[in-house]
Amino acid sequence: MSKRDYYEILGISKTADVAEIKKAYRKLAMKYHPDRNPGNKEAEEKFKEAAEAYEVLSDQQKRAQYDQYGHSGYQNMHGGAHNMNMDDIFKNFGDIFGGGFDFGDIFGQGQRKRKTGPTPQRGHDLVQEVSISLKEAYLGTTKDISYYHAFACSECNHLGYKNKTDVQTCGQCKGSGQVRYQQGFFAISQACSQCQGQGYSVKNPCGNCKGQSRKQEFERFELKIPKGIFDGAELRIAGRGDAGVFGGPSGDLFVKVHVITDKKFNRINDDLTCNLMLTYPQLVLGSLVEIEHIDGSKINLKIPKGCPVGEKLTIPGKGFEKIRGYGTGNLVIITQCHIPKKLTVEQKELLQNYSDKLGTNVADDKDGFITSLFKKFLG
Ligand SMILES: [Zn+2]
Ligand SMILES: [Zn+2]
Repeated sequence: MSKRDYYEILGISKTADVAEIKKAYRKLAMKYHPDRNPGNKEAEEKFKEAAEAYEVLSDQQKRAQYDQYGHSGYQNMHGGAHNMNMDDIFKNFGDIFGGGFDFGDIFGQGQRKRKTGPTPQRGHDLVQEVSISLKEAYLGTTKDISYYHAFACSECNHLGYKNKTDVQTCGQCKGSGQVRYQQGFFAISQACSQCQGQGYSVKNPCGNCKGQSRKQEFERFELKIPKGIFDGAELRIAGRGDAGVFGGPSGDLFVKVHVITDKKFNRINDDLTCNLMLTYPQLVLGSLVEIEHIDGSKINLKIPKGCPVGEKLTIPGKGFEKIRGYGTGNLVIITQCHIPKKLTVEQKELLQNYSDKLGTNVADDKDGFITSLFKKFLG
């Protein structure tokens, strides 16, 4: 907050008109511009002071208030420290020096954007993959996740340097990172050679992270995988990606979950399906069977009389817990007919008798049905 009278700062009378105010400010702004006075604190203060004075006196309403209440009265009214920063000041320059006029041109190589140190950046998101069984997906599980990623350096507080004074605006490019020179008619810009286009240099980079503000380290943690997780799901773990650069926020970790195909069970939406082998008599006559669920529990299942092959028998609520929304899917048992490859003599006889009763033709070992068919065709 300025302590001096605004008219005094600009060196003008109380009756000065708009043009005079503008002219006075322009003169001071050029004189105390930071590009012309690198590292000069006093000049910077004067520069800000002039900008503040101009901001008030160039505004008719503000100027009227200022004239009415006086310097301290006006400042009390607008309370506390003046919050005009360099960006605001530079924004108003278009007004002072005319629209479209690049202020940098006045000084040949100065630019409005000055870098006073490393720019914080968000760290990268990372991806890890984990494979789980269908049973683990059904029950939920915990998995060890281990990987390398960038951690914020603790020795330099994630900055890359230990003292703020170690960061210096580049003297050659005045912080812009660019150097311009004239060649014939052309103004050519190129990255500043002294700071490699960064606009600043760090005098004493942190030894622990070599000035990088972060370091690769090993991370390991247990990840809880919720019940009902589906194949291809991605779990986001906020902040477990790479640490940001120069104090920037961390990226996230995404864990991609693969569910390994199960030999017995299959998932369809939130239902679990499973084939059940039954004998022909079981399907025809009906039966009560015990089946083992994916979690190892036993379930009694009634096979109805005359049950066809491929019938879907539903056991409600024994499927996957819905990961989105409420409720649980079903266990769906699909009936199949077991065809034995080998029979005892007695079993075979009984089956042949049964076939005879039905009036169907079946093959025997000596003169198979297929063989006799071939004979017929081959003559
Ligand atoms: Zn430079
Ligand atoms: Zn460090």
